[in-house]
Amino acid sequence: MNTKTHIALVSIPIYSHLRSILEFSKRLVHLHQDIHVTCIIPTTGSICSNTKALVESLPSSIDYMFLPPPNLDDLPQDFHPALLVLVATSRSMQSIDDALKKIHSRSSLVAIVCDGLITQVLYLSKKLNISSFIYFPSNMMLLSLVLYSPKMDETMTCEYRDLLEPLELPGCVPIDGKDLPEPLQDRSGEEYKVFIEGNKRFYLADGVLVNSFIDMEAETIRVLHEEGNKIPYAYAIGPFIQKGSSRRDESCLRWLDEQEDNSVLYISFGSGGALSQDQLNELAWGLELSGQKFIWVLRSPSKFGFVNDLSLANEDPLQFIPSGFLERTKDQGLVVPYWAPQIEILSHSAIGGFISHCGWNSTLESVVNGVPMITWPLFAEQKMNAAILSKGLKVAVRPKVNEKGIVEREEVAMVIKNIMVGEEGKGIRQRMKELKDAADNAVKQDGSSTRTLAELVLKWKSLGVAQCN
Ligand code: UDP
Repeated sequence: MNTKTHIALVSIPIYSHLRSILEFSKRLVHLHQDIHVTCIIPTTGSICSNTKALVESLPSSIDYMFLPPPNLDDLPQDFHPALLVLVATSRSMQSIDDALKKIHSRSSLVAIVCDGLITQVLYLSKKLNISSFIYFPSNMMLLSLVLYSPKMDETMTCEYRDLLEPLELPGCVPIDGKDLPEPLQDRSGEEYKVFIEGNKRFYLADGVLVNSFIDMEAETIRVLHEEGNKIPYAYAIGPFIQKGSSRRDESCLRWLDEQEDNSVLYISFGSGGALSQDQLNELAWGLELSGQKFIWVLRSPSKFGFVNDLSLANEDPLQFIPSGFLERTKDQGLVVPYWAPQIEILSHSAIGGFISHCGWNSTLESVVNGVPMITWPLFAEQKMNAAILSKGLKVAVRPKVNEKGIVEREEVAMVIKNIMVGEEGKGIRQRMKELKDAADNAVKQDGSSTRTLAELVLKWKSLGVAQCN
C-alpha cells in the first residue's frame, strides 16, 4: 500500500482542461513531495498526439489512466464536439466509479478533485465518504456566475440576452447579457437546464480550486469569501501554466530570433478555436493593412467555431486565406497551420501583442509573459474573460464587431496598430507588466497562491490522519 497522501483527479477530454489540471498536479507534487496523484481521464475515442505528449511527460508521483470510450454510436455524425465530450463523460460514470474504488482500496485516498464540467463525480465521492473538490480551470468571475446562476434562475424572468443593463455579479466587472456563455442565451433550451443542474452540484463540493490569483480578481475573491459557508470555499491557487521548453528548432522561433523586441503580433484561437470564412478574410486583410509583423496560427473555418480533435482536421488551412496573401506578406509574417509552440512564442522578447480568443490558459500565458492583448472571444466564457481584461484590468483592447458579428478589416488594422505602436498600447503594456509581476509573486515561495495551496494540503493531510484513527 502506498503510504503517501493520495489525491484522485478526474479530468475531461478537452485538451486545455487536461493541460490545466495536470499543471496543477505537477505543482502540487513538486511543492508537497509526500503527495501522490492519480489522474483519471475519460475519452471520446482515440487519444490525440498532443494529449499523449502531455501525460507522457508527467513525473513519477503522478499516475494517469485513460478510460475506455463509452458507446457513442447513437449520436449524429455532426454532433457538436463540446457536447460530445459532455455526453461521453457522463456515460463514463460507471468506469470512473470503478477506477475510484480501485484506487481507494489500495491507498489512503483523502480527496477526489474533479473538473468543473464533470461534477457528477461529487456523488461518487459522497458515496465513498471521501472529501470532494472541484478543479476550475477558469476564473473567479465564471465561478461567481456558476454559483449565482441557480438564484438568477429563480429570481429573474426574462432572457438574460434581453437585459437592458449589464448584469452585475457581486464583485465582478458588469457584463452584457449577450456576453454570457451560450447555455445562458436560451433559457428554454436543454443546454440551459443541464448548465443550471451542473451549477447546483457545485454546492456539494468542499471547495473549488481556481486557476487565478488575488491581484487578477481581488474584488471578486473578496466578495466570494465574504459569503462564508453559504458557498464552497474558492481557493485562488494559480496561475498554473505549462513551462516552455528550451528547444529552439521550430522555424517560427528561429524567425522570431531575427525580429526586434516587441515587434511581432501573435494570433491564435486556442486548442480548437476556428473562425468563419468571412471573418478569416477580414482578419487577413486587416493584418496586411496594419503593416505589423505577425505569426498567425491558422485553422480551417468551422461551423461550430471549435474543433476538439485536430488530428481529425485533415484539410490544408492555407487554402482558405485570401489569394495572394502569403506572397504579399512574406516579409511581414508567418502563417503556421493548426498548431504552434505557444508558450515558447509568448515568452519570446520579439512578441509585442497577442490576438487571443481569451481562453483562460492563453490569457494566463499572456499575463505571465507580460504580453498586451487584443481580445477576440469566440465561445464559452471567453466574452466574460474579454471583459475582465479590457474593462476590468485594462490590459487589452476589444475590437468592435459589426451587426453580423464580424470584426471588419479597418477595425482589425486599427486595434493592431493601437496595441503595437499606439499611445493606448503604451499604457496597456505598462499595466500588463504590473500584472505579470503580481502573477510571478503569487507563485513565489511565500506568495498568496503558494500559501493557499499549502493550507489546502494541510487540510487534506489532516483528513488522512483522521481516516487512520
Ligand atoms: N496551444 C498551443 N498551440 C497552439 C494553440 C494552443 O500550445 O497552436 C495551447 C495554449 O498554449 C493553451 C491551450 O493550448 O495552453 C489552449 O487553452 P485555452 O484555455 O487558451 O483555450 P481552449 O483550447 O480551451 O479554447
